[in-house]
Amino acid sequence: MKNIAIDGPAGAGKSTLAVNLARALDYRYVDTGAIYRTIAWHFSMCGIGPRDKDNIHRFLGDALIEVRYVDGAQRMLLNGRDVTDELRTPELSAFASAVSANGEVRSYLLQMQRTLARRHNCVMDGRDIGTVVLPRADLKLFVTASPEVRARRRLAELQARGQQAALGQVLTDIRARDEADSTRKIAPLRQAEDAILLDTSDMDAEGCLQAALALARERGL
Ligand code: C5P
Repeated sequence: MKNIAIDGPAGAGKSTLAVNLARALDYRYVDTGAIYRTIAWHFSMCGIGPRDKDNIHRFLGDALIEVRYVDGAQRMLLNGRDVTDELRTPELSAFASAVSANGEVRSYLLQMQRTLARRHNCVMDGRDIGTVVLPRADLKLFVTASPEVRARRRLAELQARGQQAALGQVLTDIRARDEADSTRKIAPLRQAEDAILLDTSDMDAEGCLQAALALARERGL
């Protein structure tokens, strides 16, 4: 199977690029952030804090996480219940970032991600796809943009979903999550040595897609 790994910080345009690229190549898009958000949702519903290692260990096996595709869109199931529409709140973003620093959580989810990539041609996005999950991906992109641009994009996304937020707060949250994701001990956010850097600060979605498609075609994808 062919795999494209896209990593980068929150709001850099990874998922827009990954969705568009997957559609253009007729690959499957795998959003690994949604997988981390699902496990975080499970712990938050069980009242387990992100640093409560003992209970994380005890309750991890209770979470049956499934990735499904409905009309081409990824849906997340937790113990048979579709939780997709509950995953994208600012509170869960911060909680997921904290939960994802737990090594046991990361190993629990690693095999699921690798299995998806083994079964399908896919564009997978996240924080450690090029470095840990798919170190032999056919193409690796590290997508970034300035914090201000990322905060404006994230605010527009929240508003499109009818959620209220202030730009300053979104920027503060993004900076905190960048710091937590890139300084954690296990699988921190970083550019793989063989990843190509794409700074999308001054690019629109179409420009990003064309840049990525050109790189994919160079590699025969
Ligand atoms: O990409 P998204 O913002 O949905 O990810 C939510 C959180 O999940 C991130 O802040 C990060 O801490 C974690 N994550 C991760 N590894 C991935 C994908 C997401 O640690 N591959």
